[in-house]
Amino acid sequence: MRNLAPADSNSRISVLLVEDDAEEALRIMEMLAAARAGSVLVSHAEGVESALRMLIEGSYDVVLLDLTLPDGSGIDALLRAKVAAASVPVLVMADEDNGPQALQALRAGAQDYLVKSELDTQLVARTLRHAVERHRMLRHLNEVQQREHFLATHDSLTGLPNRISFQRGLQAALEDAEREGTWVGLFFFDLDGFKAVNDNLGHAAGDALLREVAERLRNATRKSDLVARLGGDEFVVAVKHIHDAHAAATWAEDIRRQIGQRYVLEGTECWLTASIGTAVYPGDAEDAELLTRCADTAMYHAKAQGANRVRFYEDGMNAAIAERFRLVNGLRDAVASGHLVLHFQPQVDLLSADLVGAEALLRWRHGDRLVSPSVFVPIAEQTGLAVSLGEWVLREACESAMRWHSIQSRPLRIGVNVSGRQLSDEPFPSRVAAILQETGLPPDRLDLELTETSVIDANATTLATLCGLRDVGVRIAMDDFGTGYSSLTLLRELPVDALKIDQSFIHGAATSERDIALVGGMLRMAQELGITTICEGVETPEQLQLLRVRGCRLVQGYLLGKPVGQAEFEEQIVASQPPWSGPLSDPALF
Ligand code: C2E
Ligand code: MG
Ligand code: MG
Repeated sequence: MRNLAPADSNSRISVLLVEDDAEEALRIMEMLAAARAGSVLVSHAEGVESALRMLIEGSYDVVLLDLTLPDGSGIDALLRAKVAAASVPVLVMADEDNGPQALQALRAGAQDYLVKSELDTQLVARTLRHAVERHRMLRHLNEVQQREHFLATHDSLTGLPNRISFQRGLQAALEDAEREGTWVGLFFFDLDGFKAVNDNLGHAAGDALLREVAERLRNATRKSDLVARLGGDEFVVAVKHIHDAHAAATWAEDIRRQIGQRYVLEGTECWLTASIGTAVYPGDAEDAELLTRCADTAMYHAKAQGANRVRFYEDGMNAAIAERFRLVNGLRDAVASGHLVLHFQPQVDLLSADLVGAEALLRWRHGDRLVSPSVFVPIAEQTGLAVSLGEWVLREACESAMRWHSIQSRPLRIGVNVSGRQLSDEPFPSRVAAILQETGLPPDRLDLELTETSVIDANATTLATLCGLRDVGVRIAMDDFGTGYSSLTLLRELPVDALKIDQSFIHGAATSERDIALVGGMLRMAQELGITTICEGVETPEQLQLLRVRGCRLVQGYLLGKPVGQAEFEEQIVASQPPWSGPLSDPALF
């Protein structure tokens, strides 16, 4: 093996010359050197075996192969060269009478052939140039194609495979698992509160967060597992060679904890959690698409239960999800099609036996049943329908209160339940003010009932909204008081005018000394603070008696009147014997 005329230019061509005849080899090398004006690096191999070794170990732009070699037929050598370095063009050299063999070589993948006796500097120069240019062009094309393929099958933000390539990879993984008798665990991730990161810290921080989550998922998996981003804040991981559901659960809990750890985004600390749905092959589904749907469904359930948790797919989950979608779609139409109605429940003064107001309670006429707000209000909150729904309720309730005034001289108050979503909607106070103005209801006759849970995470926006509502002049009532975890802290920090003591305490009061003491304590505390109280859920004369003795004035509950539709409530207002008059005139009460 001899090298000839090494050159250092970028356009230097590296040629592997395979020629057993030393004299012939020298002649060709001289021609090559002359042809490329010194910019050619020729490596010489005398036989097939050494040529193959050099092809594997080195890098060449072109191979010049003699078709008549001692240790193997030229065609055989060509085929083996194509295996050793598939992309390197091979030019074969044949004697004049070797025409058929040269043709065979072209069919076997040679790029061109040269007749040895016709070789001269010009021909060699031209052939080499064509071969190399063609090779470089093909290589470039190949790179472009590879890049395009990468972009089509990967997510450009995280570099993870996308949905299409994940589904393909998952199907192959399931086939392997079937052959090997192993399991595949599929984990569907949805980040909780990702939108808030985007909204509060900006899109660049959101992107950085997604990249960091991708990195944590990559680090938590083996090379053979599949990790992909399906879009938005949804990721999916397939863990192979799982042997039981317990292993899947352990893995999911681990990664849930890792995702929940601190992120530092452009210098700002932030925390985030994920809801994870898990499905296992072969138990839950037989093919990739169905398995993904099962994990997705389980994720929905994890989210609905309050996020930051892992749920395994269970039979029947799909039916629950289908029902949920049906409800969401129906709810969207309900406002427009007049299928929402308000019921009203009286609130009365225990001492004077007067009606003081009513709470508006939403009902959804869905087919032939009335759906309870405890079923659809949480769905409305998750889907963002809560704001438009709440506005409808508010307007309808204020209009009703105005109408009562026209049939009854004493002004009545109206209580309207407000969801947490409405509170985090900044223009809420001005919407309330506008509705009061449109309907003509004086602000001090409206009680907005907030649940403790909706204000427990009160942030700056919620607090500003509450202060804004105070400025509008409405009364703020804390609903279900005593059921949250920091009821007293809320009283200290938030502008609250009234407490609605939760019905669980009233129900417990009949049998539990502790509950009686708690109700008494809450009533006294409110009195000290100058806050009005309403006791909810009064069902029996005994409860009424207990409350009266402890200084309670305002009550609401089935004993005094169940929630009823608009027309029926108006009849009760003007009736000489309304439902609350009986229990309140019971002599045992006093
Ligand atoms: P809430 O505001 O605490 O309303 C009181 C619930 O207790 C009502 O249930 C009422 O019908 C029920 N109730 C009243 N008296 C008694 C009683 O003596 N015994 C028993 N066992 N229950 C009694 P409802 O109407 O099913 O409403 C459930 C919850 O749904 C409400 O609890 C409120 O948080 C929410 N909600 C109702 N309407 C709306 C609305 O328009 N918007 C929003 N955001 N939430 C609403
Ligand atoms: Mg309420
Ligand atoms: Mg309540």
